[in-house]
Amino acid sequence: MTDTVHADRVSALLAGVPTGLWIDGASRPSEAGAQFDVRDPATGEVLTTVADATVADATAALDSASAVGKAWATTAPRERSLILRRAWELVVERTEDFALLMTIEMGKTLAESRGEVAYGAEFLRWFSEEAVRIGGRTATAPSGNGRILVTKEPVGPCLAITPWNFPLAMGTRKIGPALAAGCTMIVKPAEDTPLTMLLLAQVFADAGLPAGVLSVLPTMSAPTVVASLMTDSRLRKVSFTGSTGVGKKLIEQSADQVLRTSMELGGNAPFIVFDDADIDAAVDGAMAAKMRNGGEACTAANRILVHNPVRERFTAALSARIAAGVVGPGYADGTTLGPLINARQRDSVASLVGEAVDAGARVHTGGAPVDGPGYFYAPTVIDDVPAGARILTEEIFGPVAVITGFDTEDEAIERANDTEYGLAAYFYTTSLDRALRVSSALESGMVGVNRGVISDPAAPFGGVKQSGLGSEGGSEGIEEYLNTKYIALTP
Ligand code: NAD
Repeated sequence: MTDTVHADRVSALLAGVPTGLWIDGASRPSEAGAQFDVRDPATGEVLTTVADATVADATAALDSASAVGKAWATTAPRERSLILRRAWELVVERTEDFALLMTIEMGKTLAESRGEVAYGAEFLRWFSEEAVRIGGRTATAPSGNGRILVTKEPVGPCLAITPWNFPLAMGTRKIGPALAAGCTMIVKPAEDTPLTMLLLAQVFADAGLPAGVLSVLPTMSAPTVVASLMTDSRLRKVSFTGSTGVGKKLIEQSADQVLRTSMELGGNAPFIVFDDADIDAAVDGAMAAKMRNGGEACTAANRILVHNPVRERFTAALSARIAAGVVGPGYADGTTLGPLINARQRDSVASLVGEAVDAGARVHTGGAPVDGPGYFYAPTVIDDVPAGARILTEEIFGPVAVITGFDTEDEAIERANDTEYGLAAYFYTTSLDRALRVSSALESGMVGVNRGVISDPAAPFGGVKQSGLGSEGGSEGIEEYLNTKYIALTP
């Protein structure tokens, strides 16, 4: 694509994306009139500006969510289902628009963005199908003198706070089940990537969603805007995806109104390759688990642990694959690795790698930022990282594969579990016994056996330990938006 064709395509796309706050079914300016810039991380240039929500705007969104809450909760499940289904169809129809929008505001390649459109849209279809299957149960009281009736009810107005790394899917994973359950929702998208959620709000309106059921509030004042909503007794739930540090603050804040919470937090995924593994398949899996989304994924393989007898072979093969990566803007032909989200993230990756190298780690490929106006970092492989290096304990969130060796299965499991996180874990083996034994020994909410991608809208996504609370997706996902009510009946 030439630069002019790209620029024309971006202008035409941006002309159709609402850049106001989405409140009460329409785009409007912030009450204070303030706006903030959205930048292309491949160039650092401003793409557009969006309205910057204040506490008064947040109150207006909650007023509207509360006003329509009852009507939405009592809308026939089939009708809620059909609206979600129409929204799924419209997002899929507009795949190229959503894909380009994510690529220009977040940086990932167009191929990755198209993958996210399919994945993110699927939560809408999955939960359109769950909307009509909300059940309950009845039982005869053991004493015989009563009947127990258990019903499920929507929790009420919800707040979703989403990160920048998957601008569409992290929203639909919350909006889908909330709307299916009969809840209204306010979304506070990440500062770096508000455009995708704003376009989604427009698509939901086109799909026939009543005004007020879904609001989107971009803001540069997340702490105050979110705190104002969380201390308002009308809000009943907060669902957060982001860092563990912010998640902990939100858990504390949720005490004020005893809010239901779902917390999808950070990860430090181990990726273990045993000596009985199919090494070529393990290299493919490591490429996916490490390089997907440029390494900016909570499920990214943060620590690659390789059985010493196969370590040299695995490291050489993975290094060759990673070194072949083509760095550039996500919208340029041939690019396989886009920029990091911003300068802060690039500098954070550079400092993790720099410290490890200073402490004796060996660089197989990459190992430095790439010059240019955007926020690029070279695809990198390092090994011989000393135990205790920060790069082994913190999320890297970049295209850096960190390899260490191990001698026994027990050692691999102990090292894999030696982290405060517990989101995803991966391992490769051809032994069924080992597959079952290691799956149950790993302290994580999700385990990939002989595969490097585990996310699936039909499966419960979530972590243990400091990686979070609750599940998103699967039949479990809608439960996060339902309260259980017990009704006691006489015989
Ligand atoms: P972040 O925690 O900095 O921000 C996430 C969101 O929280 C943003 O919308 C931000 O504006 C908002 N926020 C920040 N401070 C806040 C505050 N004090 N009060 C209210 N809201 C606040 O995270 P990030 O850098 O955007 O995303 C990366 C993190 O997200 C990584 O740790 C990653 O592992 C995690 N993540 C987790 C999952 C998962 O499902 N477990 C998925 C994707 C990303």
